[in-house]
Amino acid sequence: MKITEIESKTIISRAKKPSAWFGVQYGMNIYRGCQHHCIYCDSRSECYHVDDFDGEIIVKTNAATLLEKSLSKMYKRYTIGSGAMSDPYMPIEKKYTLTRQCLEIMDHYDMRAHLATKSNLILRDVDVLERIAKRYVSVAMTVTTMDEELAKVIEPNAPTPKERMEAVGILNSLGIKAGLLLMPQLPFLMEDREHLDKIIKACTDYDVQFIYPAFGVTLRDRQREYFYNKLEAYDSSLVPKYQKKYKNYYSASCVNSKKMYQYFKQRAKEEKLYIGMPLYEREVSNAQMSFFDNI
Ligand code: SF4
Repeated sequence: MKITEIESKTIISRAKKPSAWFGVQYGMNIYRGCQHHCIYCDSRSECYHVDDFDGEIIVKTNAATLLEKSLSKMYKRYTIGSGAMSDPYMPIEKKYTLTRQCLEIMDHYDMRAHLATKSNLILRDVDVLERIAKRYVSVAMTVTTMDEELAKVIEPNAPTPKERMEAVGILNSLGIKAGLLLMPQLPFLMEDREHLDKIIKACTDYDVQFIYPAFGVTLRDRQREYFYNKLEAYDSSLVPKYQKKYKNYYSASCVNSKKMYQYFKQRAKEEKLYIGMPLYEREVSNAQMSFFDNI
């Protein structure tokens, strides 16, 4: 895979309004492209203008310098999120350590953090995360299935689901709030109760603090094309089913999405697992606010 180092002009961008899920006020993208190569990844869509998502990783080598410059001018405490467009803990982060450097700067400037990832490499940074957690930090680990064989097909370069869940358990044991993004859920492949039961069991085993489920997948231009090609190689009967049901729609809900949600909700309730993420508002409002928050 080609690695291209660049000096970027920007590193964070302000959200029009804080994300309802995690309260992210600024998004941060240190890398473009992603080494995990999940076959359903939405970041391949043309609207994101990443031309060779699977063939090239662009590394913003000046990420930490840029972040320091931006945060040094801010007088309010914000929640900065990373992981929406590419995984901040993809393998290349071992070498560049840019995510870690940015977290150190966020800690220095008293910022809050939200990280979305599929990698247990995040455990390398628990020392910084513990410090940020005194204000607020949330980690959303994406796990779509506990079936290791299926995960190898759909998320070929990501750590195994078990490794991801173990990381969630460790983070929570250290007071770093970590939960599960159960998305996407692939129509025809992830619609049975046994699959959902395995997810629930893993959530109870690893003390998951929140679960954000979405029973379906998005399908759009280059993303759809890549996904169908990989699906065809896995099971040639699936693509005609998708084409018939979803045509050119962007949103492809699981065939039994309502029943799945009802079942999942019931099972989560039985196990006292928390679905959703209003935790953010409560956490932040309960946290001791700094003087600057009120400016
Ligand atoms: S880890 Fe996330 S960003 Fe990376 S390929 Fe998978 S879905 Fe896309």
